[in-house]
Amino acid sequence: MVTAKVWVLKKHFEGFPKPSDFDMKQMVLEDLKDGELLLESVFLSVDPYMRPYSQRDMKEGDIMIGTQVARIVESKNPAFAVGTFAVANRGWRSHFISDGKDLNLLPSSWPESLPKSLALGAVGMPGLTAYFGLFEVCKVKPGETLLVNAAAGAVGSVVGQLAKIGGCKVVGCAGSDDKVAYLKKIGFDEAFNYKTVKSLDEALRKASPDGYDCFFDNVGGEFASIAINQMKKYGRIALCGAISQYNDSVPQKGPYVQIPMIFKELRMEGFIVTRWNDRWKEGQKALLKLVLEGKVKYHEQVTEGFENIPAAFIGMLKGENLGKAIVKV
Ligand code: NDP
Repeated sequence: MVTAKVWVLKKHFEGFPKPSDFDMKQMVLEDLKDGELLLESVFLSVDPYMRPYSQRDMKEGDIMIGTQVARIVESKNPAFAVGTFAVANRGWRSHFISDGKDLNLLPSSWPESLPKSLALGAVGMPGLTAYFGLFEVCKVKPGETLLVNAAAGAVGSVVGQLAKIGGCKVVGCAGSDDKVAYLKKIGFDEAFNYKTVKSLDEALRKASPDGYDCFFDNVGGEFASIAINQMKKYGRIALCGAISQYNDSVPQKGPYVQIPMIFKELRMEGFIVTRWNDRWKEGQKALLKLVLEGKVKYHEQVTEGFENIPAAFIGMLKGENLGKAIVKV
């Protein structure tokens, strides 16, 4: 019999999440039945979506939502060998039982040299968000200029690098000078710290005096309101995230988008990466190849210890992560 550790949402977040909103509990797992597997989480992902989705989908006392890379430690299912690694969507649990149907095995071509945690980052959901958002929503073309915010994070850093590979000029912004230095290191043409520039409007104009063809928006709010005025005619905006608004207790007010949308004849489209669930393998294969070739570089912010998941989550929302925020159990 195995006792799993789990983190539950003790209290719905009000404003910014606090450590006291979470509670760690123990849960005794039943012995395996035929067809079942016991898995242990090796890496857990902390992601911005957990903040708005917890509000929408969870009740107090529920186990926190989330994905993990887990290893099969016991198997009563001949289709799954002990030692196999899989991505699962089983929330903040140290161990769990599965019948295998909800597992996505890591691609067989996954090389030993590559951290398996990348299946939660550049070669996982965030990387695919960048891939499909950029090529299917923004539909970037060579020679265009792309703007991406939260650019040093899990999604943004892949967006910028894929756009460079696609022949674009790429402008990114992030919340610290170290992050800006990282963006330049991985090939962004222009990068700036949105927290320290005197005027965001001027910084955007300086980075691309002709404006932007595409804007991959991870942040929303005031940033987006300013950036939209610097779109070129017929520009495309991919609404990926609105992290500047997730912790608001009172919704932010305008400025509103209609005037620049009309006069510049812009196209703005919200998307959720699961729209392309049927193309997951294609995207993952492409990203894995680019990472292995060194064309897409990655960085992970690894927090050690299952007990530190809430701290890693809160830290990520505060911008403490460079690249993908991961917890290593
Ligand atoms: P990141 O790795 O980018 O981490 C979040 C980052 O957001 C922080 O590091 C911080 O960076 C930045 N941030 C936090 N608060 C603010 C703020 N008030 N204003 C500006 N930036 C802020 O996370 P992900 O790459 O996983 O996610 C990025 C965005 O993409 C999120 O909005 C997320 O919800 C969205 N997303 C959408 C998906 C979809 O299917 N539509 C799928 C996956 C993600 P900094 O230091 O630069 O401020």
